Amino acid sequence: MSETAPSRRSAAWETLAAAMCDVRALGGAVSLLQWDQETFMPAKGAPARGDQLAAVQAALHERLTHPRVAEALDLAEREDSGDPDRAAALRALRFDHERAARVPQDLVRALALAQGEGVDAWKAARTERAFALFAPKLARLVDLRREQADAIGVPAGGERYDALLEGYEPGMRVSRLEPILARLVGWLSPLVAAIGAAPAPESGFLSGRFDADAQWRFTLELLAALGFDPAAGRQDRSLHPFTLGLDPGDVRVTTRVYEAQPLSAIFSTLHEAGHGLYEQNLPAEHRRSLLCAAPSMGIHESQSRLWENLVGRSLPFWRAFLPRLAARFPQLAGIGPADFHRAVNRVERSLVRVEADEVTYNLHIALRFELELRMLRGTLAVSDLPQAWAARSEALLGVRPRDDAEGVLQDIHWAFGDLGYFPTYTLGNLYAATLFDAAARALPGLEDAIAAGDLAPLRRWLTEKVYRVGRRKDAEDIVRDAAGVGLTDEHFERYVKTKYGALYGLAI
Ligand code: ZN
Repeated sequence: MSETAPSRRSAAWETLAAAMCDVRALGGAVSLLQWDQETFMPAKGAPARGDQLAAVQAALHERLTHPRVAEALDLAEREDSGDPDRAAALRALRFDHERAARVPQDLVRALALAQGEGVDAWKAARTERAFALFAPKLARLVDLRREQADAIGVPAGGERYDALLEGYEPGMRVSRLEPILARLVGWLSPLVAAIGAAPAPESGFLSGRFDADAQWRFTLELLAALGFDPAAGRQDRSLHPFTLGLDPGDVRVTTRVYEAQPLSAIFSTLHEAGHGLYEQNLPAEHRRSLLCAAPSMGIHESQSRLWENLVGRSLPFWRAFLPRLAARFPQLAGIGPADFHRAVNRVERSLVRVEADEVTYNLHIALRFELELRMLRGTLAVSDLPQAWAARSEALLGVRPRDDAEGVLQDIHWAFGDLGYFPTYTLGNLYAATLFDAAARALPGLEDAIAAGDLAPLRRWLTEKVYRVGRRKDAEDIVRDAAGVGLTDEHFERYVKTKYGALYGLAI
């Protein structure tokens, strides 16, 4: 046995390990430049920052696509190291290498240019509330994304959109998403209508002024309670909250504080903390390899949603945390956890995705997924997009935007030509419900622990089942191994119907 056992030392592997280390380091440098850009960079730093980001990203691309990496990959894939982690790292590197190497340099440059022009035109169009100013740039971006999808190659049994979708959610297909979203629309739309006919919960106690410093200190208390390690990360303020993980030892989250809207900081922090816990608990022993990352956007979003909604919008959570909040804001004295729970779960037919509640959120995604798929397939002309948006918004959500700014121009994603990204939000919502259901079965007394403010059992379970896996498995396999079932809306449906049926007194 010993004389035939393959050597774990391999020149090809050493080459690839060095390349992965550099790719990770350069990726971390990009993240740090972006984090600084959104938080502390002075306004006049913008032109230089653009150059800095472009230079580091070019270096990263070159390191990932270098012919020596291609040669070493071919060699290493033929060796049998007997090490499953090495095999998983090779699969991850092959995937990233192919996606980067197959797209010709002139297309990469054309896309970067079109994205810059797209964002500028989108901003101007929003200011003027006129889609026509953005339309030619979007049409150009859709064309370039088609070219990119063809260069990468349509996955077996799939379509063009799948080639782009794979950049965010490896393994996912339109053919899986379409029926799932159709089912969601089928039961969510009537539920939204029924809730709309019921009396809205009282939330007047959330208006007035909530001191910004006191809000900030409460968000830090929440981070600590969730187990976000302050020695391995920090929270700052930004206009649009986000999370960037440079490494498990260095995770940056941001939040925003509005004195007139106290829920904004609370739920932004809980959301980003979910992303942050994932990043801090990735397998640090693989920090120099591509395994030290989440396998998809959808599974990453499942963790922000789980902590924000399944935990943060639950009654047990507010039994523990309302007294702590009220200690900082005397105007909440006399409000009970049940009142607060109702107020933070108000359902509204809003036009705005980012402010949408748990019930309407996926309808916003269904709308975007349907329209971007039709644009990429060529069955919807970009010039017809505003009319299609308004019609589908009315059909799905029961509200019609008054102008383009309220409707088709509200998200920045299409200004970058990002097609295939939106569905990962819904995948996150569905995976969150499925994983939380599994956690509740695995951890008897979970609700009591949450009601006592003890979130460690849940964090430990998620760390073991999800965070520490890193990129060794695809997202759906992680969920399947943790919960016994992959992609389904079954748990989400039960959760939403039970919770909102009770909150709104509906018989469903
Ligand atoms: Zn998120």
